[in-house]
Amino acid sequence: MSREAEYDVVVIGGGLGGLICGALLSRYGKRVVVLEKNHQIGGNLQVFSRDKVIFDTGVHYIGALAKGNNLDRFFKFLGIREGLNLVRMDVDAADRIHFGNEDKFYPIAQGYDNFSKQLTTVFPESKAEIEGYCRLIQDVCSAFPLYNLRYDQADYFSSDFFTTSLQEMLEKTISNKRLREVLTGNSLLYGANAEITPFYVHALVVDGYIRSAHRCVKGSSQIAKLLVKNIRENGGEVLKRAEVEKCEIEQGRVAAVCLTDGRRIKGLDFISSLHPKASIRLVGEANFRKAFVSRITTLTDTQSAFSVHIKFKPGSFPYLNYNIYHHKTPEGVWKAKGKVDESWPCTLMVSMTVPDTDSNYAEAASVLTYMDYAEVKPWETSFNTVALPGERPDSYYRFKKRCEERVLDELEVVFPEIREKIESVYSSTPLTYKNYIGDLTGSMYGIQKNADNPVATMVDPRTKIPNFFLTGQSINLHGIIGVTVSAFATCMHLIDGKTLIEDLNRIN
Ligand SMILES: Cc1cc2nc3c(=O)[nH]c(=O)nc-3n(C[C@H](O)[C@H](O)[C@H](O)COP(=O)(O)OP(=O)(O)OC[C@H]3O[C@@H](n4cnc5c(N)ncnc54)[C@H](O)[C@@H]3O)c2cc1C
Repeated sequence: MSREAEYDVVVIGGGLGGLICGALLSRYGKRVVVLEKNHQIGGNLQVFSRDKVIFDTGVHYIGALAKGNNLDRFFKFLGIREGLNLVRMDVDAADRIHFGNEDKFYPIAQGYDNFSKQLTTVFPESKAEIEGYCRLIQDVCSAFPLYNLRYDQADYFSSDFFTTSLQEMLEKTISNKRLREVLTGNSLLYGANAEITPFYVHALVVDGYIRSAHRCVKGSSQIAKLLVKNIRENGGEVLKRAEVEKCEIEQGRVAAVCLTDGRRIKGLDFISSLHPKASIRLVGEANFRKAFVSRITTLTDTQSAFSVHIKFKPGSFPYLNYNIYHHKTPEGVWKAKGKVDESWPCTLMVSMTVPDTDSNYAEAASVLTYMDYAEVKPWETSFNTVALPGERPDSYYRFKKRCEERVLDELEVVFPEIREKIESVYSSTPLTYKNYIGDLTGSMYGIQKNADNPVATMVDPRTKIPNFFLTGQSINLHGIIGVTVSAFATCMHLIDGKTLIEDLNRIN
């Protein structure tokens, strides 16, 4: 590419959202370029490898990819479903919920009937309420047209599930306290702050995993690679190490983006898949309505994460084809608590890497917990990525080490002999996520939805600038399905939406 180039659509950010927009728009004949700042494409789909083992940095398992599920249908349409190398997780308990030092694990199974059956075995007196919960989740999800590959207008703004918090809804519908805690046991998937997290967020996230749960073999970066291939086959371009520094505005429209290396890329339309706060910075606050800037910049983000990546000694630890969500106390399910005080870490999610061979032993596991960005603020001026290597102070590495140890201590509550089986440990902090993703606080899932004012926390793909659109996890919903739906919602403003959805339904 020369130092000046011109496209129909310039997409900023090569995570899932940006890549799906690139794939869709190039398929409909648009000349597209996707600009990614990192050395590796994919955003939260990036992987890294240590001692020949691949670790996922973000996505550990994916819902709704079984035949006929919504994500399966979206991915088939995008031409990437066939190429995915996946393993179906334990059908009777893809997630197991664990509290304190109890010796009981509560199953979150796949398939609504099986989900009911497995939980009813543990809570026989709650059979009717469990079945009612399953109906409720499905009813809520059916109200979201695009989630169901429908074209109709959304009409849920005054619905109960939109304005009622997760905690309130469960208290209304589930009388057994422990069952409520189990149903919220994998709330790390949406960074629950259960008093304000709207029930619909819980419903849309858990629905996918109840339908089906898969792990990616050799990491989720395969999704990004397939999308890149697809974009290039459609005549589009994907550029790595292409960091957008600012957008140039001419006569109320974005005319071009300027990259940090001096390149300038012109386009007719622009899509930013970055966090909306970062998108506003690129364009300049003065170019948006004051009310929009003030709303977006004051919204709270979901919590950030601390991840511990473990490589096991060969043949020492069994491969578990399910995740464990461990909570120090049951209260952990309700609040994404990331302050590193004496009770941290309150919640752990343990997920195994699919072994490279047929072995019954695990090669590696990732353990995820919440961490406030404030904990790493002392080192926030340091920067280190593969594309832009840099130094961090020793105090940062000492902090990381102390946190690693505390996560391993808590992990021992679930697996008492795990330390002896560990060969090596690596970790990442909110600063790692911030540097790699470009999000201002390393937030896991972008903007936190709020049942007290749900509309304010929904972000429209359209902006006041007629040729500048938003996509990504803060628009509709986070996660693989949420971001996919958001990308379709964005593209429906650049190509005929009705045709797009008709074509999507024709393929399946
Ligand atoms: C720790 C963690 C675990 C998760 N686990 C799961 C899971 O198990 N299952 C699931 O479904 N979801 C999971 N998610 C959520 C899911 O990964 C995200 O919702 C999704 O990948 C977000 O995609 P995106 O395209 O919106 O944003 P991102 O993936 O953040 O992509 C944005 C891209 O923009 C690039 N960028 C930023 N600034 C610039 C710039 N100035 N110029 C050019 N490029 C730029 C970034 O480098 C990045 O590649 C997890 C997320 C995290 C953080």
